Amino acid sequence: MVRLTNRRQSGPNWRCNVGPRIEKQLKKHAYISHDYRVINSSNNIFEIQSRGVACASDVVAAHSVSLEVRTCTCKRWNISRVPCGHAMAAIHSKGLRLDDFVHEYFTKDTYMKAYDPIMFPIAGVAEWDKIHRPIAPYLYRSQPGGSKCQGAKNLVSYPSS
Ligand SMILES: [Zn+2]
Repeated sequence: MVRLTNRRQSGPNWRCNVGPRIEKQLKKHAYISHDYRVINSSNNIFEIQSRGVACASDVVAAHSVSLEVRTCTCKRWNISRVPCGHAMAAIHSKGLRLDDFVHEYFTKDTYMKAYDPIMFPIAGVAEWDKIHRPIAPYLYRSQPGGSKCQGAKNLVSYPSS
């Protein structure tokens, strides 16, 4: 209950549209993306070249980014759904908004929806209603095609009324 309340209160304090952890990743990727050279293949497909440290003109690696499918051959964007440095270089070269390419799972709206339901407090045991009958364990019925494991034999079976 405390954790839900804390998270519900922290969401509106986020500095941008994504959470602090994702914001940190995006800053790191943005820093890296400045070293990349972006070459258009089509309107939404790019080749991203990185240069060697020893000689600035040597291309040591190249990746393919698709902004439409939201993938990069380095696989970081495909797996994490947070644009990698290659994707950010392509996004910035087109003058597009980065927020439009971060998965909606990481947005403030989704976070607030996840923690919107509240958990109601319950009264102490002394305030509970008294029940003056034994509480029986649940009725066990074998399901057709169900598990034939040994553990099921130990369960008490009650006839249905
Ligand atoms: Zn990448």
